[in-house]
Formats: sequence, C-alpha cells, structure tokens
Amino acid sequence: MTRIAFIGLGNMGAGMAANQAKAGREVMAFDLSQAAVDKAVAAGCRPAASVAEAVKDADAVITMLPAGQHVRGVYGEQVLAHAPKSALLIDCSTIDIDSARAVGEQAKGQGFRFADAPVSGGIMAAEAGTLAFMVGCETADYAAFEAILQPMARVVFHAGGSGSGQAAKICNNMLLGISMIGVCEAFALAEKLGLDPERFFEIGSKSSGQCWSLTTYCPWPGPVETAPSNRGYEGGFLSALMLKDLKLAQEAAARAGASTPMGAQAEALYALFDGLGYGQKDFSAMLQMFRGRLDELTA
Ligand code: NAD
Repeated sequence: MTRIAFIGLGNMGAGMAANQAKAGREVMAFDLSQAAVDKAVAAGCRPAASVAEAVKDADAVITMLPAGQHVRGVYGEQVLAHAPKSALLIDCSTIDIDSARAVGEQAKGQGFRFADAPVSGGIMAAEAGTLAFMVGCETADYAAFEAILQPMARVVFHAGGSGSGQAAKICNNMLLGISMIGVCEAFALAEKLGLDPERFFEIGSKSSGQCWSLTTYCPWPGPVETAPSNRGYEGGFLSALMLKDLKLAQEAAARAGASTPMGAQAEALYALFDGLGYGQKDFSAMLQMFRGRLDELTA
C-alpha cells in the first residue's frame, strides 16, 4: 500500500488528504491544528503527532501550506531530516518561485526528488478530486509524481523544471484576475449605458469578448447558474487569495524584469477591494465596486 504523509489539512488539504485515503492509500496526516487532524481521521487518514512522525516511512510527502515561509520551514527543518531519501516530495501550496526553487534545490542536494505542484480549483474541487495540477520537476521524475497526484486531480500538467509549476500558476491567475476585472467593468458600463446585462451576456459570450470569467464564472447574477454571483459571492475563490496570487505575480515580474502593467493594476484593485473589507468574498464580487453598489455585499 502506498504510504502518503500529508502536511497541512486546511480548506484545501482536508479534501485532498481525504481523496488519497479514498484511493486506498495509507495517509499519515499532520497539521498544527488538532481539529484539522481529527477531521482527516474521520475521513480515513491516520493521525501523526509531528511532521517527523508523518514522514518517517512515507513513499510520498504532500504539503498544502499557506505561504513560502511555512514551506521553507517544514521542509528545511523537518521533512528533509526525517523522510526516507526514496520519498517523493510534493509541495502543492501556492508560494513564491524563489522559495519553491530554494526548497527544490535543498531537497535535490540531499538526494530527494522534489516537485512544486500548485493547483487550480478551489475547495469544492479539492473535495471532489478535480483539481488541475501544474508540476515543476525533472522530466524523468514526472510520471512518478503524476501517479501520486492522480486521486486528487482532474488533470495534471508537466509545466517544466523546478519552479515552473509556480510560474504557470501565477501567470494563469494573473490572467484570470485581469480578465475578471475586464468582465466586471464591461457589465458596469453596459448597465450605465442602459443595455440589459443579461442581453450583454448573451452577446458577449458569443462574440470576441468571450472568456472564462464571462461564460463560466459570470460576475453578474443570473446568466450562469453555478457562478458564486448567484449565492451572494460566497463559496468561490476568495478575493484575498486572488490578491495573494497577484502579489506573487508582481514580485516575480519585478525580479524577472517583466513588464506586467495590467497585472499591477489588477493587484491594486484587489488590494483596494480587500482593504474595503471584502477579501472573504468571491473575486467576482469586484463587479459591485465598479457598479458603486458595495451595499449589495455584506462585508
Ligand atoms: P488554510 O489556511 O485553510 O490551510 C493551511 C493549513 O496549514 C492550516 O490548517 C494550518 O494549520 C496548516 N499549517 C500551517 N503551518 C503548518 C505547519 N508548520 N505544519 C503543519 N501544518 C501547518 O489554507 P488553504 O486555503 O487550504 O490553502 C493552502 C494553499 O493552497 C495556499 O498556498 C493557497 O494559496 C493555495 N490555494 C488555495 C485555494 C483555495 O481556494 N483555498 C485554491 C488554490 C490554491
């Protein structure tokens, strides 16, 4: 039986660890929160009292942690010291590229195989096992990483070498943030011009403005039944997390000397929205700011 150590059982990790257990793998689960460990145990995992205990006999270690500093700490101080050298190390957190590469180098230097493998898809996809993974690793190791990720995935991509998974994730999410803002602005303008927003949806979704933010995740309530706009902008991809990803994109752009003015503008707008108290709303709720109707959102 494949033995998985799963570290970080929060909003995302809980569902992901549960899907590993459902696939018949032995999952040793650890989180700083005892409540999170208890939930994982109820979902078929085994409790570990520390990172060291979770990883000691693991075939694969999966981490799903908040940010770069947590990933550097957990690997640098614990995983690398206690996991068997044969274990595949997979970090699924969304973190800065420099941290991903630094941890990857450190792991490789000690004889481990390491992948940065951030995900696209939110809590519902984590629970359903339908996440998209973007994997940065050596080509020779990719098949082994893919097999471990499979029970949690709708699709797995090999993005390239170390750090490429994080690069793919922030480029994608920068594009998503920009396109959502564009769609929100277009709806706000349509309304001001006296154009029926539902009619605009029909036209835009079949014209050259068509994009995922419009047709699959429409910020205007009504046209797309499954969109968070139809449930008070709850339960989707939080604006605060979009802001996190846009910040990572801007940091990476500054270091790489890339010109990303629209990404910078998107970051500024999500920072404003977050600062106004709407960070816990879905990122499509930005529409109400452009409409001047923040009163329609409960902060
Ligand atoms: P979360 O805050 O709900 O969960 C993080 C978990 O890590 C917490 O349970 C925390 O206790 C645990 N943790 C922190 N430090 C630890 C340590 N040293 N040892 C063990 N456990 C530790 O966050 P989340 O929403 O699950 O997100 C996790 C990652 O996934 C983030 O990098 C986030 O950007 C990314 N992500 C989130 C979403 C989403 O919709 N929530 C979508 C895609 C990607």
